[in-house]
Amino acid sequence: MKICPSCYAVCVDQKWDFNEPAREKAMKGNGWEKHLCPGCERVARGQVDGVVYLRGDFVARHREEVKNLIRSVAQKKLRKNIAARIYHIEEKKNEIVIETTDRALAERLGKEFEKAYSGHLDIQWQHHSDFARVYWTRD
Ligand SMILES: [Zn+2]
Repeated sequence: MKICPSCYAVCVDQKWDFNEPAREKAMKGNGWEKHLCPGCERVARGQVDGVVYLRGDFVARHREEVKNLIRSVAQKKLRKNIAARIYHIEEKKNEIVIETTDRALAERLGKEFEKAYSGHLDIQWQHHSDFARVYWTRD
């Protein structure tokens, strides 16, 4: 069994998961090794596959709400895909910029913001690459 030393995900039968009981049980024995999971590997490599720009007065006025939604979308996505991580968040006055290690996570964030708060969503895909720029704006 592999255990990620960074986020403590475990890998059983080729599948990475957050399985605390399995991890605790494994760590009592010797049948495990340290190995970065695909998500922490991307973070370590600095692999950014999507950037989300949340812009407008709404972002400034509802900062906590906005950050909570970012967190909950990221957590849900992480349960489905261990490699989908937030790489970096930069907060400015009327803007929050989120870099993700996964294109689909960036898209999902934009779509969830549109769903929750309307506003304007624009997703741009880069030609021949698995990279998305996601712009969500609400004043
Ligand atoms: Zn990890």
